[in-house]
Amino acid sequence: MVEKNGNTANTSIECTVKQCEHHCENQNYCSLNAIRVVTHEQNPTEVACTDCASFKKKQNA
Ligand code: SF4
Repeated sequence: MVEKNGNTANTSIECTVKQCEHHCENQNYCSLNAIRVVTHEQNPTEVACTDCASFKKKQNA
């Protein structure tokens, strides 16, 4: 299903970051075919140590 912003949900990638241009507004999914997950820590130990490197700030968010 295509969202108002033109994005289509990839139900293999759940995401709640609504401020991202790739987010599917009314559905908590990413619209990309694949994403890149990285860490900003030398020794990641918890979820908060990881980041989505495919994040792109919404123009008007
Ligand atoms: S690119 Fe990353 S942050 Fe953006 S919607 Fe997809 S999974 Fe979420």
